[in-house]
Amino acid sequence: MTISSLETLQQVFGYDSFRGDQQAIIDHVVQGGDALVLMPTGGGKSLCYQIPALVRPGTGVVISPLIALMQDQVDALLELGVRAAFLNSSQDWRTSRDVEQAFLAGQLDLLYVAPERLLTERCLEMLSAGRISLFAIDEAHCVSQWGHDFRPEYLGLSILHERWPQIPRLALTATATTVTRREIAERLALDGAPHFVASFDRPNIRYRIIEKNEVRRQLLAFIQAEHQGDCGIVYCLSRARVEETAEFLCENGIAALPYHAGLSPAVRAANQARFLREDGMVMVATIAFGMGVNKPDVRFVAHIDLPKSVEGYYQETGRAGRDGLPATAWLAYGLQDVVQQRRMINESAGDDAFRRRLGAQLDAMLGLCETVSCRRQRLLAYFQQDTGPCGNCDTCLEPPQAWDGTVAAQKILSAVYRLWRERGQRFGAGHLIDILRGKPTDRIKQYEHETMTVFGIGADLSEQAWRGVLRQLLAQSLLAVDQEGYGTLALTETSRAVLKGEQTLMFRREPEKKTRNSRPASTRGKEAIVLPGEAQQRFENLRAWRAEVARSHGVPAYVIFHDATLREIAMNCPQSLEDLGGISGVGVRKRDAYGEDLLRCVRE
Ligand code: ADP
Ligand code: ZN
Repeated sequence: MTISSLETLQQVFGYDSFRGDQQAIIDHVVQGGDALVLMPTGGGKSLCYQIPALVRPGTGVVISPLIALMQDQVDALLELGVRAAFLNSSQDWRTSRDVEQAFLAGQLDLLYVAPERLLTERCLEMLSAGRISLFAIDEAHCVSQWGHDFRPEYLGLSILHERWPQIPRLALTATATTVTRREIAERLALDGAPHFVASFDRPNIRYRIIEKNEVRRQLLAFIQAEHQGDCGIVYCLSRARVEETAEFLCENGIAALPYHAGLSPAVRAANQARFLREDGMVMVATIAFGMGVNKPDVRFVAHIDLPKSVEGYYQETGRAGRDGLPATAWLAYGLQDVVQQRRMINESAGDDAFRRRLGAQLDAMLGLCETVSCRRQRLLAYFQQDTGPCGNCDTCLEPPQAWDGTVAAQKILSAVYRLWRERGQRFGAGHLIDILRGKPTDRIKQYEHETMTVFGIGADLSEQAWRGVLRQLLAQSLLAVDQEGYGTLALTETSRAVLKGEQTLMFRREPEKKTRNSRPASTRGKEAIVLPGEAQQRFENLRAWRAEVARSHGVPAYVIFHDATLREIAMNCPQSLEDLGGISGVGVRKRDAYGEDLLRCVRE
């Protein structure tokens, strides 16, 4: 007798029903079809290959680039009673041999393999000698050379199709632009395979982008006001900034750890393990961290430097709130970010086409930062998806004003123009602002800039306001960072229309002091997290019990049960094993193993 996909979902995973396209994808693969699956992080991609692997005869082979996380993935499956194992370079030969034998004996439902391992002749031969139900290529965007996570080993995966043409292949990713999608299908030879594209909206994530001034203080204030004691990730551009920021947070009573490619593999692994296993840890990291981190209860993702592309920003922020509970994506950005990134693009290796592509990616990111309409609408539009205003982003909650910045822009542009025409000089943002505001600094005197006609013509605006104007001009490419590499500013071809008064410019003005007063909006999220009355106490009991079990099994707490499951138990007060079976996330195996303990926690 064969067991159906729905029965597997209910009995093994303990969920009632499929979500979105899951059913259609699973049916298609069970019948032997190939497919490309695009779903946001937290959308439920894993079930799309785990269930067919359980339903079809043979072992499902999962190709995943994340060696450090395979152990947790396998542990989670073992907890569910699924026969899973992995093969990668972190194992000794004896363990590998045992796994290979189990595979050959048909004793595995799922086998996780790193791509470089899979491509070895030994591994290919072993796979040929066993029975395979499907191939799942996780993080399939790693095959894209233009993407942000390119892994050369992925290019070799076209061999799967050549060697096993009759075995279904499922490529999965959370990266959604049409370009990347086309590239994945092409490089993995998925011709004619259907593309299942889910909505990329993550409604439980609140997006917020603020103007940067003292960024570490702003970050600390944000965490203290809205996410004290929560687990989160803080992204920075450089290793040095990671170190400084982690130290700063620790000094201010926030439990933070650093993660970047400059740390030894042992330190990285230890920090990642602490982040996954301990409650309320903040990981301060470069983008080297995060792919495949399945931790469902990351409550915030903060960026203290501007991401290089919307795609990267979406991936990184997507690591918040996988459990569906409220979470925040917070980004602080300012003039210096724009100057620095434009400069890095100018100096980057590669041909003009490559630089243009980087420039276009940055422009899209800047457009998201400067928009006066809904952030979510803008973000989804980047992935060619429509939505109405969301009511859960900063522009929806506290609409910014738009102001006519044409005259201010003309003042700056004419200062840049005159410096170049009259003096043959170019300067950076700080000095330009000093000229406009008529500030008699040593540098002004040294260059006799107080004699210029533009000196002091902008005394009506604050320095902060001028930085905002400059930032927005750079964002719209009405000013350029000079090719010389000193961060000096120059006019562009489009500046002329503004100087001549042929174009009106509307700029974003931040709502006054709203960063401090955003309490009502932000605590709303918090309240949703605290349970009513005694349920909260039951939830705490259940969490304490879970922490103990997780420790004794040596696995992260969420591998035992997700918060969402414990919350449901705390709310519903199940009285019997049968009641427990009706809770989402309690499958047969977990009910048998932990049911009595759970009932006891609820009674206490
Ligand atoms: P992805 O790999 O797409 O980021 P996961 O496969 O990790 O997402 O799933 C995200 C979360 O949603 C997990 O906690 C998973 O158990 C849960 N989930 C997935 N499908 C369902 C479903 N049909 N019903 C309930 N929960 C689900
Ligand atoms: Zn919105």
